[in-house]
Amino acid sequence: RREWGRVEGIMRELEKECETDVGRLRQVADALAVEMNAGLASEGGSKLKMLLTHVDRLPDGSEKGIYYALDLGGTNFRVLQIRLGGQRSSILTHDVERQPIPRHLMTSTSEELFDFVAAALKTFVENKENADGDVPGSGRELGFTFSFPVKQASVSSGILIRWTKGFAIEDMVGKDVSESLQLALQRKGLDMRIVALVNDSVGTLALGYYHDPDTVAAVIFGTGTNACYIERREAIIKCQGLNTSFGSMVVNLEWGSFWSSHLPRTLYDIELDLDSPNPTEQGFEKMISGMYLGEIARRVILRMAQQSDFLGVVPSKLSTPFILRTPMMAAMHEDESQSLSEVDRILTEILEVPEVHPRIRKLVMKVCDIITRRAARLAAAGIVGILKKIGREGERPLGSRSRPDTTMRRTVVAVEGGLYVSYTTFREYLHEALEEILGEDIVRHVVLQVTEDGSGIGAALVAAAHSSTS
Ligand code: ADP
Repeated sequence: RREWGRVEGIMRELEKECETDVGRLRQVADALAVEMNAGLASEGGSKLKMLLTHVDRLPDGSEKGIYYALDLGGTNFRVLQIRLGGQRSSILTHDVERQPIPRHLMTSTSEELFDFVAAALKTFVENKENADGDVPGSGRELGFTFSFPVKQASVSSGILIRWTKGFAIEDMVGKDVSESLQLALQRKGLDMRIVALVNDSVGTLALGYYHDPDTVAAVIFGTGTNACYIERREAIIKCQGLNTSFGSMVVNLEWGSFWSSHLPRTLYDIELDLDSPNPTEQGFEKMISGMYLGEIARRVILRMAQQSDFLGVVPSKLSTPFILRTPMMAAMHEDESQSLSEVDRILTEILEVPEVHPRIRKLVMKVCDIITRRAARLAAAGIVGILKKIGREGERPLGSRSRPDTTMRRTVVAVEGGLYVSYTTFREYLHEALEEILGEDIVRHVVLQVTEDGSGIGAALVAAAHSSTS
């Protein structure tokens, strides 16, 4: 029928526009490496902020003592405590407590938000100390994971540049994040010093490095996406005026805001961007992170429904932004039942679509596949971009006769985030693309190592590495 033809037309167009052949992925990786250089050369030199974290020491295993961390930056926040025994890989214990952030606090005032997390931290610390019989009181040190773009003046302080991921607390922009938390801790009467302010990717890198010193970078694929890596001092041209003694420093790409004309962009991406609270910002993140994938898929299905009668009357739920969350999209995508009953369940329960023909279920599954495949392959290109920047992608240095596989060193990238960990097909597509871009010989030396709770434990580890007592 003509109607079905239209739906198929939309599908063909989507497939074409989301094409990510290996040539294009290489262009994206190259573009990222170029932007990284530009961002390191001068402040504002690129859409990539290439933020200096001032983390110039990563935990090497010699750290000892009790450290706390507070992790704020997504749907949940976490408080945790670690005990370090002074040997690599001997995090003696760690205890985590996680709580959802009440939605209204994401758009309230900074005082309300920080009072809320400070109160939770205080309760956690007191309960821990009571249970463990630790002497309460002074000398407590905290690593604060705050996963939003921050301009840091030191390892323990920094100013919020802007919010992302649905947070919008205007009075906080331009303010020192650590100071705001420190004041809230004081208001709650909790004696604790903020030693390190990091984001989730930096925490993940610290934990990865603690376990494996071949770790060179960390990437996050969760609600949002970001990456950081270890850079040599000489390469950080924009801070050569600063009088620092470090040999290398962790640099935070803030790659969510990466943009390149090589990125395959569709009508749906453009519309999603226009309808977002931050149009033209976070372009890369809007194509690959968990916050957006389900929403892109919803927009495609909606267009199909509007342009044909394949769902009958367009259900109003299908017109509701962000109603199709990425885990649901994943569940449809990975439905292995003969009749695609999971696809049907989600379509009827979440989108309130009447029961549909198996052919349509298959089509919806295909939409999920196209969106996720593009995301995962672009994510892989991003990783390769970083490896390129630090000369770990196996390309022969000019004039060198050595074969790439003999010069390639073991290279570990720490990875974290629900999208990568829980969405198997995303992970598989990412690995597949990595191999396509790098080639079999090189990819053997590249390890993507999942860490757990790195954003929290890692922050406590950075605090330990920069502690006044160690
Ligand atoms: P954060 O919100 O701090 O990024 P996570 O790293 O746990 O927390 O990532 C959670 C995000 O990962 C969710 O918002 C969702 O987008 C994605 N996600 C979690 N589980 C799944 C899943 N099973 N399938 C697809 N995406 C998932």
